[in-house]
Amino acid sequence: MSTSPAEQRVLDAIDDDALVHELVELIRTPSVTGTDAESDLQHRHAEQLRELGFDVDAWKLDLDELYAHPDFPGIEAERHEGYGVVGVLGGQGGSDAEPALVLQGHVDVVPTGDLEKWVDRDPWSGAIRDGVVHGRGACDMKAGTAANLAVAHALVRSGVVLERPFAVHSVVSEEDGGLGAFATMLRGHRGEAAVLTEPTSGRLVVANAGALTFELRIAGRAAHGSTRLEGYSAVDAFLPVHAALLELERERNAGADPLFTTTTLPYPISIGTVRAGDWASSVPDLLVAEGRLGVRLDEAPADARAALEAALARAAVADPWLREHPVEVTWPGGQFASGRIDSAHPFIDEVSAAVADTEGRSAERAAAPYGSDLRLYAGIGGIPTLHYGPGDVRFAHAPREQVEIEELLRVTRTLAVLAARRCGALL
Ligand SMILES: [Zn+2]
Repeated sequence: MSTSPAEQRVLDAIDDDALVHELVELIRTPSVTGTDAESDLQHRHAEQLRELGFDVDAWKLDLDELYAHPDFPGIEAERHEGYGVVGVLGGQGGSDAEPALVLQGHVDVVPTGDLEKWVDRDPWSGAIRDGVVHGRGACDMKAGTAANLAVAHALVRSGVVLERPFAVHSVVSEEDGGLGAFATMLRGHRGEAAVLTEPTSGRLVVANAGALTFELRIAGRAAHGSTRLEGYSAVDAFLPVHAALLELERERNAGADPLFTTTTLPYPISIGTVRAGDWASSVPDLLVAEGRLGVRLDEAPADARAALEAALARAAVADPWLREHPVEVTWPGGQFASGRIDSAHPFIDEVSAAVADTEGRSAERAAAPYGSDLRLYAGIGGIPTLHYGPGDVRFAHAPREQVEIEELLRVTRTLAVLAARRCGALL
């Protein structure tokens, strides 16, 4: 199958220059999770969708209500406000029918780190060098959100008629837990299928491992360093705990799903911060470590938490100090369950067909080792959801984040064909 005349008309309506310009503008807005710039981008998207004639639901998140919800996915950034944006382009039955396709993107990005590493020492430049756009968020995922809007523009500008509605969702707070996607699902927005246009390097990401943030508090006994045997170092107490976590990681990664084609360690247990002691010549009486625990595909987060707690309990049995001073475990911050689309769902083949017909290649299916909004759309929303978007995830959260313009344009064309096809575009 190749593209139909209606699909071709939508392809012809994509404005490449406007798409690249929009990406640059998005990068120039430093929308780190929880900042006012994040809200600015939500207002910008709502306005653009309204101008295109979409039926737009733009609402202020009720943070108190969301935080109190039993399924609240957690946050890590400070936040005083947040907005949700959903735009629906009505089909022939009006915009009340369920959208045949949702394209979703998050507007938030992670902080920039060392400025020296960026092109022009400016992570917010949107600088273009040799066909590559640079800046924080370039691939994760402002290229994807720009692509979603470009598809919206093209559908409208082409003049095709849609038999069934098409929707664009723009969310906040993906990076620290998925508050925006959570709120969008609670608000009742749905669709028959969704693509999160996160960077996938041309692959279809059909499953996500999850990630749970944990904190460990490990007690020691303070003493003067000159008489350290009078005390017990919390750092020494941490060593068998760390060994137990490595052992647990090994167990949990044995026999992982073959969808993890390019991931050697799908479910890492990683310690991100360790703090202990307050004086060089004192024996530290407390060590606080924070880390993330990978959640296996199809594993309930509660079971993953229980596995870690059981591993720590086993370590304590073998260690006299820990037996008397059990490690305290808490689960603050982002709580990403794992998620997946049913591997037999026809939507996967539909996206593959759009890739084949537009890009002339077959797209590999894979699972990703990181959590995303996928599990909220698939879990709470019951929406068959996968990732397909421009960029290489290895640049996400990294210095010198970038995306190739050629890839951005190519993926946008595929998304446009997918939208036209699923929504029944007619001339
Ligand atoms: Zn992302």
